[in-house]
Amino acid sequence: MSDDRLHPLVSGWPAPAPKPVRLRVSVSAEAGLRRGHPWLYAERIQEQSRDGEAGDLAVVFDRKRAFLALGLFDPHSPIRVRVLRARTPGPIDRSFFRERVGAAVARRETLRDSETDGYRLINGESDGLPGCVVDRYAGTAVAKLYSHAWLPYLAELIEVLLEQEPFERVVLRLSRLMSAEPELLRGLYDGLTVLGEPADATLLFRENGLLFEVDPVNGQKTGCFLDQRDNRARVGILSKGKRVLNVFSYAGGFSLSAARGGACEVCSLDQSAPALAAAQRNFQLNAKLPGVAAAAHETLQGDAFVALAEMAATGRRFDVVVLDPPALARRRAQVPRALEAYARLARLGLDLLEPGGSIVLASCSSPVTPEVFRAAVVKEAHRCGRPLYDIEETGHPIDHPTDFAESRYLKCIFARA
Ligand code: SAH
Repeated sequence: MSDDRLHPLVSGWPAPAPKPVRLRVSVSAEAGLRRGHPWLYAERIQEQSRDGEAGDLAVVFDRKRAFLALGLFDPHSPIRVRVLRARTPGPIDRSFFRERVGAAVARRETLRDSETDGYRLINGESDGLPGCVVDRYAGTAVAKLYSHAWLPYLAELIEVLLEQEPFERVVLRLSRLMSAEPELLRGLYDGLTVLGEPADATLLFRENGLLFEVDPVNGQKTGCFLDQRDNRARVGILSKGKRVLNVFSYAGGFSLSAARGGACEVCSLDQSAPALAAAQRNFQLNAKLPGVAAAAHETLQGDAFVALAEMAATGRRFDVVVLDPPALARRRAQVPRALEAYARLARLGLDLLEPGGSIVLASCSSPVTPEVFRAAVVKEAHRCGRPLYDIEETGHPIDHPTDFAESRYLKCIFARA
């Protein structure tokens, strides 16, 4: 049964070759696959039965010719195979997708309430669908793909998704690497609405009872940073009667949570004017909530590293300072510089914090481990005479599961100083 509402470029995508590519791999890659690692890098392949095209299935055998793993083959990616089935072979068909999507939906059962209808529905590898992320924003699903290998399976995936959740719209987002090779996309492109009416006005969704607009076509990631939902709620709890500074505010997620939690003053700081304009609209959307109506909200555009120092110099102080910078390290070699930047941000934040106030510092740099991040921040706080106490750390929320090391990126320190 194919859904005739699906974009013809998606429903008409040619089927992959009926026979899988057969592979033999290095000893270390064998060990990794046995441990359940979901990726096979190209340089680990020692024998390959044929060239293969994106979306062909690949079967990896060990040296005794026993089955090791079955996955999606992608000749255009350094991650040559993304594992769908490890240890036990089986078909990749509609019931396979039903089982994986069903498990992902069930995992998020506790999130399905009237207060929150924006969350990650499928988190790639950690939900058994490597290279594929689906975020839900109310009636819209945003599917973000990281490999061309998904394109032949996209129609089936969406159809299965629609069996579980009656989405009115599905938007396709493509990773930067995929968009860089338009000739492989047969007309598909980043931001294409593949089911339903294109979102003309900005779409609305709810997070813990707060309304937010989202632009799933042009917004960063799939439109919003859904991974910070729990941390935003925690900031709300800290904010009653407080002056709150939200640095790297984007569309004001932490700011609104602080305001709803009873903050008297909220300042959103970001370098992006459109992000700050969205933050202002989000405050208007929630103006009926007493906390939001009562809080004085101010936006400040500028580079955080410069603006924070300027604010401190004018003698301005806050009771809660939240810093949620973009990823500062993508590779291991960038870790030392990222740690310096985190330390600098901690110092700049502490300079603006009243004694006894709360500092919240997040990191989404995956090569920076929670231990190293915490050590750098604690050390810097000590060095500037504002040692941290009552330290708490949070990691990934329930809808962003992380089943292998490379997928762990988010950590957030809550402390008083
Ligand atoms: N805290 C946000 C997400 C932050 S994303 C939320 O809860 O939704 C990171 C934000 O940092 C982006 O909005 C980006 O515009 C901003 N940004 C990046 N570099 C910056 C800089 N040097 N100074 C100020 N803002 C910056």
